Formats: sequence, structure tokens, C-alpha cells
Amino acid sequence: MTPAELEVADLCVELIRADSSNYGDGSGPGERAAAEVVMARLAEVGIESTYIESEPGRGNVITRVEGTDPSLPALLVHGHLDVVPANAADWSVDPFAGEVRDGYIWGRGAVDMKDMDAMMLAVLRRFKREGLRPRRDMVFAWLADEEAGGVYGAKYLTANHPGLFEGVTESISEVGGYSLEVDPSLRLYLIETAQKGLAWMKLVADGTAGHGSMLNDDNAVTEVARAVARIGGHDWPLTYTPTVRRFLTEVADAFGVPFDENDPQPILDQIGPLVRFVGATLRNTTNPTQLGAGYKSNVIPGQATAVVDGRFLPGFEEEFFKTIDGLLGPKVRREFVHHDIALETTFDGALVESMIAALKAEDPAARAIPYCMSGGTDNKTFFADLGVRGFGFVPLRLPADMDFASMFHGVDERVPVDALQFGVRVLDRLLLNY
Ligand SMILES: [Zn+2]
Repeated sequence: MTPAELEVADLCVELIRADSSNYGDGSGPGERAAAEVVMARLAEVGIESTYIESEPGRGNVITRVEGTDPSLPALLVHGHLDVVPANAADWSVDPFAGEVRDGYIWGRGAVDMKDMDAMMLAVLRRFKREGLRPRRDMVFAWLADEEAGGVYGAKYLTANHPGLFEGVTESISEVGGYSLEVDPSLRLYLIETAQKGLAWMKLVADGTAGHGSMLNDDNAVTEVARAVARIGGHDWPLTYTPTVRRFLTEVADAFGVPFDENDPQPILDQIGPLVRFVGATLRNTTNPTQLGAGYKSNVIPGQATAVVDGRFLPGFEEEFFKTIDGLLGPKVRREFVHHDIALETTFDGALVESMIAALKAEDPAARAIPYCMSGGTDNKTFFADLGVRGFGFVPLRLPADMDFASMFHGVDERVPVDALQFGVRVLDRLLLNY
């Protein structure tokens, strides 16, 4: 085993022990401790890095590796340092102890995403120790605040230090590159090439305030309730984006089931718990999440509100809002609580070829396929705004029976040590050869 494979587990453990819980309200410990681990491990082998705090304690670490061919565009390899909080009472282990047990590293961030943070470190350290240089410039970034929208991380850096990403045209980061075993001779590796867009909408109805005992045909509560019921109950049609169509075709082929456009469920049944990542990528969705109105039983309020979490498919944003506006009705308007673009890129080009080749070299049973994620990552707005084409690629060869999707933000989050070692080998090949 190479030194990088040997040390990746220790690096991951060290990062997990640096609690970087992000509560989203600024109350957490911040990313500084985790950033210090990254900087110390880089400095140990002589790699200089830049540390940037957007707010006290909200640390980001960036380093650029100069490639041998300056004519090639640069690649961004990024991971986030923050993790979602963990309630220790729910866990079988201390979520911030980084315990290694039964071949797994346990702890908050083990898959989201201190695994990749550690793999990036291990590969970089090997390059430096052995005097290796990639062909193109590579920017390695360990970022703050992904779990709360990237305000203190990707957003801050792209807005205030865009020069750090000069020449970058592509990126790799979470959530993709993991395996789905069909049988021992065929493992699908899901590479994320698309993400749904996001529209958190506040619905507002203005009506006539008055006494609850009197006639009122302009009741804001009634109006907002009707709109919420229409939007929440809307049956969004099955819609196949190019990525989703390709994904379903590949899965159908791998498992030997037919692709019936009117009933994709038999295909989704093949992918087990991973359906949590992709189940909602076959249509737009609108889930009402909050309601607000009134202050007393017998007072009709002048205004009522609701919040709907809407997610639209790449390429279907305009159609989505047209439908929403029809469902709102004339008396209800909408405002954005948060609005984020959808992303979709094609599954082709030299980087995709290199990812496929690196996977195949380390796992002859590998077949890489693209997929669309129902959630979002830092590849969204901020890097997309810089014109960066982003992929989800954290290579992990997983045990056939592992429920990987439930590890994300889940209780007893853990990652197999040998999956990390596999990931280091694949990442090493990819970054060196691309
Ligand atoms: Zn993440």
C-alpha cells in the first residue's frame, strides 16, 4: 500500500475530530480547527496554502498546484470543511471521536465530506513528497459553510477573491463517484452531472381583516390555504431530462429490466436506498413547508402566508414558474425566500473520459454513468457563475449492501477505510493523468 493510502484514514479521523458543526445561525465552532488540520498537513510536506476567513472562525484553505502545461485550463478540486450537527445521544459512537471500528471510520463528516477532504490531502501530499506535478494547474479548496448555503465559503471567495480560481473551467466535488453493485462483475459508478434548481417561495395573500363572527368573502387564510392545497397537491408530470434519461437507460441495461417511460418504478426499484438521491429527479416537486396567519380565534387577519419548497428540473424553470403562477390564483402572490439555478452538463469530454479511465484502472468491473441530484452542492451558483463545469466525483468503491444515501446527515455516519483507499488511488490517477 502506498503512503497516501496508508495515511488517508488517519487524515480523515483527524478532520472528524476537529468539530466543525454548522448550525446555520453562526453559533457553531466554525471551520477554523478543521482548516488548521488541513494547513498543518500541507505545511508538513512543504505545501504553502492560503487561509481566508470570511468571518472570525469561518475558515477556508486554498492552494494551487502548478501544472506542467500552462496552456491547459485549470481544474478545481473542492470539498467543504463544515458538517451538519450531530446529536450524540442518537449515535452508537461519539460522533466527533473519529472511531475506527469494523473497517469503518465512524463520525460526523465521514461521507459528507471529510472523506474527500482527506483524500485530497493524501494525494496532494504524495505529489509533493515525490515531486510529481499534474499536467494542468489544479486549485484545491477546502471550504466553509456549504451546509448553510456557502455564504461564508464558496460565495464569499468567488465574490471577494475570484483570482484564486483564475483559469478554472471545471471542478470535481461531492456527491458522486460512488459505486452501486449490480453483481461482482459489474459496478455502476454514479457521477453527478446535474442538479435540480431550488425555489423556496413565500406565498402571501392579502385580504380584508375583520371580526370572525361576520360575513367575509375576502379571507386571506382561506385564499392562502387554497393555493397551498393546489400547489402541494399538484401532480407534476414525469419529465426526462437528458441526464435522467441516460441514467435510467443505463440502470435498466445493467439490471436487465425494460425502460418503460410511463412506469420507471421497476428501474428505480433496482437501485435500492440510492433512490433517495434520484427519486425526485424525474419531475418537478412542490412541498408546502410552513404556514403563518392570525393571532386570535375570532380575528380574521389581513394577511396569511405559506412557504413552499419547490425544486425544478434543469431546463424546466420557466415552465415550472408558469405552472406555479397558474396554481397561485389571482389573490395570492409569491416572493422568493431563496432561489437557486438548476445545473446540467453533458457526460462527455476529456475530464469525463479521465474519470472513467481512472475508475476502470482500479476496478475492472466499473461502469460510470451520469445522474442528476435532487439537492444541491457548492458547484451550484457560485462556481457555475464563474463558468465552471462541475461534477460530483468522490470515488468510493462501496460494499454491495451499504446504505450509502442514509449516511448523509444521518446517524452513525461512517465510511469504509478500504473505500477511502480506493478513492485515493482513483483520485491520484485522475489528477496526475488529466
Ligand atoms: Zn456535503
